[in-house]
Amino acid sequence: MNVLVFAPHPDDAAIGCGGTIANLTKKNKIAIVYLTSGESGSIKISEKKLARQREAEAKKSARILGVKKTIFLRNPDGFLEFDKKNLQKIVSIIRKEKPELVICPYAKDQHRDHRVTSELVFDSVWKASGPWLKGTGKPWDVKEVLCYEIWTPIQKPAHFEDISKTISKKVKAIKCFKSQTKDIRYDKAVKCLNRFRGIISGLGDYCECFEVKES
Ligand SMILES: [Zn+2]
Repeated sequence: MNVLVFAPHPDDAAIGCGGTIANLTKKNKIAIVYLTSGESGSIKISEKKLARQREAEAKKSARILGVKKTIFLRNPDGFLEFDKKNLQKIVSIIRKEKPELVICPYAKDQHRDHRVTSELVFDSVWKASGPWLKGTGKPWDVKEVLCYEIWTPIQKPAHFEDISKTISKKVKAIKCFKSQTKDIRYDKAVKCLNRFRGIISGLGDYCECFEVKES
């Protein structure tokens, strides 16, 4: 099966669903689409330089998880827009990559770029299946959309993935984002969240959980 993962910022895919990605790469073809390159938030380093650094970290992190294809849309970090240009880009990627499964952030996440990513992906999945946006390829029907948690834990998770065998790979993939994990220990925080999900669900030592988007 083909799988398309959408990440608002370079580190989100590893944090939100890195274990699931590593589980899936054994048998499936996965690509990650980064909506922004995470260039904001440093006073010491220029945005251009930081974007290049984060993209390199994203590629390294994706390779650890077993993903070969990475796509960077380079929207401005912190100012992601729900607009026709982004819908056109995402619909054309969906129609080209033909994913059965799409994975994106949880729509109620507290970070606005994350919420805008969900909105863009939901609408693009819908538009990709119909006659809309001419010039972006032939209609393609995505079978399932799963939403991962980053800043805001999902209230009623509907899908759990046992990541006990890939948790160490996931932590290694998160640690690729050196500047990020220096400020906040995402690797430790997410390992605890995944442990919590595993214990509460009783489905594995470490689990990632998802909301299932109703079509
Ligand atoms: Zn993010």
